[in-house]
Amino acid sequence: MKEKTVVEIKNIGMIYHTLEGETEAIKDINLNIYEGEIVGIVGPSGCGKSTLLSIIAGLIKPSTGKILINGEEIQKSCKNFGYMFQKDQLFQWRTIIENVVLGLEIQGKLNNLAYKNAEEMLENYGLGDFKHSYPNQLSGGMRQRVALIRTLLLEPDLLLLDEPFSALDYQTRLAIADEIGIILKQERKTALLVTHDISEAISMSDRVVILTKRPASIKEIINIELSCPTGIRTPMKCREAPEFRHYFNKIWKELDVHV
Ligand code: ADP
Ligand code: MG
Repeated sequence: MKEKTVVEIKNIGMIYHTLEGETEAIKDINLNIYEGEIVGIVGPSGCGKSTLLSIIAGLIKPSTGKILINGEEIQKSCKNFGYMFQKDQLFQWRTIIENVVLGLEIQGKLNNLAYKNAEEMLENYGLGDFKHSYPNQLSGGMRQRVALIRTLLLEPDLLLLDEPFSALDYQTRLAIADEIGIILKQERKTALLVTHDISEAISMSDRVVILTKRPASIKEIINIELSCPTGIRTPMKCREAPEFRHYFNKIWKELDVHV
């Protein structure tokens, strides 16, 4: 089966020029991302992961190379992307439903049907009772779910997740990674997930890309195949798969984290 390529990253290089001098952040990255897959990206802190996501999103222009989305070169920042960052970026003065429809409102696509759709999605993902609440009345994990729903309503071709759970405590992180992993698979989304958590990368991704230290280049790409006993592949169940430990050790070694 030949999958459809959503993103082609071609010979990307990035050098930042500042008053202090030059910083080479990315060197010669080539990667294809296929429809419906979740690609995890791990690498040492400061190696260039966020820079790579910003380039893919068209937020910054690479020094060399190009990005093709659905076969076409990107024009500045276009709207087929969804983002999720460490901070949920919800507006405190807006209710949950008002936050969720904000993106649609900005794009001039908010009508009755879209509003109903948003309400339904909140309902489906356990937030129906909170639609008239304000963000500060929700837990961190719930707020991240709201942020994801807001993003999904825009029907992005590609989701870019930059350490989206790292501000949450460990328990919440496990639970929300599980929920979001399930949502992404159910909605058949293509996603790039940057994380510094090796277990999170393994349990959520179809492939894990390991980057070198700065300037980031691809050290290795590992296909993740986990046998989940129940047949239902949820991130939490994946952690119990017998192969999990093997992948963990392999990535840990490749990352070469010396303390
Ligand atoms: P990561 O997300 O992997 O931690 P970043 O992509 O944020 O790494 O940063 C990679 C390198 O590029 C770092 O050395 C950082 O200091 C530098 N860098 C990031 N953004 C800028 C910028 N706007 N101007 C200059 N240097 C930058
Ligand atoms: Mg970063």
